[in-house]
Amino acid sequence: MKRNPPPPVIDAARVVSYAFVDDIPYFGANPGEPLFTENEPREAVPRVAIAVGLAGHIGPRVFHCDEEWIALGACGAETVEQAKREVERNYPGVGERWIDTNVTVEEALAFYDSETAGLKCSFCGRRPFEVEGLIEGPQATICRGCVEEFYEDFQIDDDDVIGN
Ligand SMILES: [Zn+2]
Repeated sequence: MKRNPPPPVIDAARVVSYAFVDDIPYFGANPGEPLFTENEPREAVPRVAIAVGLAGHIGPRVFHCDEEWIALGACGAETVEQAKREVERNYPGVGERWIDTNVTVEEALAFYDSETAGLKCSFCGRRPFEVEGLIEGPQATICRGCVEEFYEDFQIDDDDVIGN
C-alpha cells in the first residue's frame, strides 16, 4: 500500500502530526485493555495521526487509522507531546518518525468546508462540528441551538399573552 500523507482533517480534527507504523512490531503496552473500535478489539494499525479538534475545546487526540487514514479508534491526550509518548508505548521507535503537517486552522477549516459543501447554520453560522445537529430545509439550514433559542423566545411571548 502506497504511503500517502493524511488529509488535513480527520473527523473534524486538524492533523498536526502523523506517522506510518505498519512496519513497527506492535507492543501491547496495556494487556487486557486493547484498543476497541466498533466493539471489536483491535490492536496494531498501519497509520497513526495526532489531531486537534476544530471546535477548540477538545484536546489533542490520537487517531488509530487504516491505510486510507480512516480513523478506526481514538484516544484523548493532554498535549501533543503526551500523545506521542502514548503512541511510543505501542509502537516503540515511532518517536523518530513523526511528520508535522503545519496545517493551519484556516487551511483545516477550508478543507472541512469543502468536504461538507460549506454547510452551516443559516442563522448563527456555525458549522456541523460546532452544533448538536442541523436540519436542512429547501431555503435554509438551522441548528439545534437556534431551534431551542427561538422556541424559548416564542414561549416568553406566550407567557406575556397569558399574563395579560
Ligand atoms: Zn444556529
